[in-house]
Amino acid sequence: MRALICGISGQDGSYLAQLLLKKGYQVFGTSRDPQGSTFANLAKLGIQKRIEVLSMDLTDFRSVLIGITKTNPDEIYNLAGQTSVGLSFEQPVEAMESISIGTLNLLEAIRFQNPKIRYYNAGSSECFGDTGGAVATEETPFQPRSPYGVAKATSHFLVQNYRMAYQLFASTGILFNHESPLRPTRFVTQKIVTAAARIHAGSNEKLQLGNLSISRDWGWAPDYVEAMWRILQQQIPDDFIIATGRTTTLLHFVERAFAHFGLDWRDHTEIREHLKRPSDIDVNCGDPSKAARVLGWTPTKQVDEIIREMCEAARRKLQ
Ligand code: NDP
Repeated sequence: MRALICGISGQDGSYLAQLLLKKGYQVFGTSRDPQGSTFANLAKLGIQKRIEVLSMDLTDFRSVLIGITKTNPDEIYNLAGQTSVGLSFEQPVEAMESISIGTLNLLEAIRFQNPKIRYYNAGSSECFGDTGGAVATEETPFQPRSPYGVAKATSHFLVQNYRMAYQLFASTGILFNHESPLRPTRFVTQKIVTAAARIHAGSNEKLQLGNLSISRDWGWAPDYVEAMWRILQQQIPDDFIIATGRTTTLLHFVERAFAHFGLDWRDHTEIREHLKRPSDIDVNCGDPSKAARVLGWTPTKQVDEIIREMCEAARRKLQ
């Protein structure tokens, strides 16, 4: 089997590449600029030399078509595009183009080049917006609260439309937040654990944070790439929520991360108004029961274990 992973340098792309190699796939990966990327995550997992990388910008149809023609994949996993909700408020056009137009270009190229290719779309819990504390299911209506969420909702509907109109095998995993030591530092979870590790090692910095009362359903990234693969092994394409079903406040995350290093978070953090988003989701939580029933997928780690793993990785990195 041949797989093409768009956005292979990221957290999920790297774990997915590792999983597919273990399953015997030939793995190709795209980056907007493979010459300029170090592919540090692939190197950390020790698989960099086993991946063939190629240049692809999802907003450039020519590069998408050529990438698919060259690699002739059985499966395409689209994990590329702007990934930060915060950044999408600052660069909303890039959010829409890289996520929605990127999805459309891939779907069109599949239709044109080889409609038998199976396509995985990286959907997001951000599509639901604020559910008022209710647990989201696949039937919960979308009410996105950020340009990122709007772009993800657009790509979700494009995938459903191409599935219906052209019978493509195209599925969306509606993934809730998932973390790991490979999470980039612009994301708050990694920002917290790396700051706590530095402070423990002697730094006298103050960690600046926004709204600590938000709650998120945090899972373990390697579990979530397993779900992506399972979604493409089904007989019928469909959309699935991938989540743990439990939600935790950001305050709990901060407390636990600092406590891991024997620190009191209150001594080392300050709240900054400018870090609060123009509109945010208070609580999110997903119901993974369809994924459990149909895919046989369940999460292996809950949030406290994830915090421990990330803190230990941050400590090792400093050492
Ligand atoms: P990362 O940010 O770790 O990686 C995303 C990759 O996409 C980058 O390595 C980059 O590759 C490429 N990329 C970044 N910005 C752009 C852009 N503007 N245009 C085109 N490509 C870009 O993300 P994750 O691995 O965490 O996420 C994978 C997918 O899953 C994404 O679509 C994300 O939105 C989605 N998702 C993630 C969740 C999470 O909690 N991690 C939750 C829900 C959805 P390069 O620079 O090499 O081109």
